[in-house]
Amino acid sequence: MKRVNTFRVVPRSDADAECLRRVLDASASLWNQLNYERRQNFTDPDIDKSVWDTEDYRKQYVGVLGSATAQQVIRKNDQAWRSFFKLKESGEANGLPGYWGNEDEGRDLRSYIRNDMYRLRWATGNSEQSILEISIGKDLKDEFNIGHRERLRLEVQGEPKWTGEQCQLELFYDERSDQFRAIQPVSDCSRQDTPLADETAALDVGANNIVACSTSTGQQFLYEGRDLFARFRETTERIAEYQALAKADEGRYSTQRIRQLYRKRTARRDHAMDALARDLMERLHDEGVSTVVVGDLTGVLETHWSVEANAKTHNFWAFRAFLNRLAYTAEEYGMEVEARSEAWTSQECPDCGEYDETVRHSDTLTCPCGFDGHADLTASATFLNRHTDREVGSMARPVRFKWDAHTWAESPHSRPNEVRTHQQKTFVGVSAE
Ligand SMILES: [Zn+2]
Repeated sequence: MKRVNTFRVVPRSDADAECLRRVLDASASLWNQLNYERRQNFTDPDIDKSVWDTEDYRKQYVGVLGSATAQQVIRKNDQAWRSFFKLKESGEANGLPGYWGNEDEGRDLRSYIRNDMYRLRWATGNSEQSILEISIGKDLKDEFNIGHRERLRLEVQGEPKWTGEQCQLELFYDERSDQFRAIQPVSDCSRQDTPLADETAALDVGANNIVACSTSTGQQFLYEGRDLFARFRETTERIAEYQALAKADEGRYSTQRIRQLYRKRTARRDHAMDALARDLMERLHDEGVSTVVVGDLTGVLETHWSVEANAKTHNFWAFRAFLNRLAYTAEEYGMEVEARSEAWTSQECPDCGEYDETVRHSDTLTCPCGFDGHADLTASATFLNRHTDREVGSMARPVRFKWDAHTWAESPHSRPNEVRTHQQKTFVGVSAE
């Protein structure tokens, strides 16, 4: 099993920063040159060379990068082309392997350091610094007055989550935060922090909010699915258009296009769902959760869910598959997932226990007793109370997440809107909208 440590890399002087920048820039330059030649070989009919038949870029960059790092970047590009050919075969290729950055905005500063070409020493006490040492080329050492047997020494900020065999290190400059950062995969590893305690988490899995979660430690997490579903629906509409076209003229282009869109739609959803499961389980592990209780929706789908909610649950995130995904991920973290009936929890008032007279509309649950709260978060808290022996105190401010095509980012306004004046009485019972 592979795990990943991420941390910030802080050069200790301007010279060190410049040196690191040069390593990353040379790596990007190598990648782009090699990739350019490969793209030419691939696309230009007048060039009678395979993509593998290129200049020896290792030789050109060995002085700056060192032989091993130059080789790593070349290997990364090899991989990109190999997976391109594989995707091409199955009709899924989405363009040729790309460049690291572009002319207008500059190169992406990035590099890959082989596992035996760096050393990472985490500080053991407060007075100590964590240090990363990376191997660089001889010319660069000369230029920056680094001894021939020495490596570039950089400070590291952060904490390792995992220890084990260190794998290839990815170094990059993150423009948004103006920081150098590193990603270190670790294999055969064991988790360093928080041992599992005996806490419980309850999940309310839904269509608009994919997961609402409450923990017995008093945390609430909300993963919003509206944007994700909108994109999913957009692709579905495009598929329908192509299907109509294909019907009209039996064009092969259209049917291949349709298959591509289906795959893309599924891949995008799966990526987001995988990331959700991982993000959530990591948080729950940090809370000391050992048991995750998920409502078993299958029994209530037919009767209590609107047609659109049904369409969402079945087509979009495929409830069963998602449950399995959560269970696998939880298992990796040593937690157990239990499916329990959640009959009525989604409309039970936490203050007075009423469920016939409550009104659930959009994201809000209201009760004649005066209660007014976020419907899914309330449901997960009610569900939690039902399945834990522990006294659950008041909940902390909920943390909300939105999918930004790469990660589940914390939403800037993290508190659901709780100031509501009048509830519309149009919907009685459970509604997804
Ligand atoms: Zn009430």
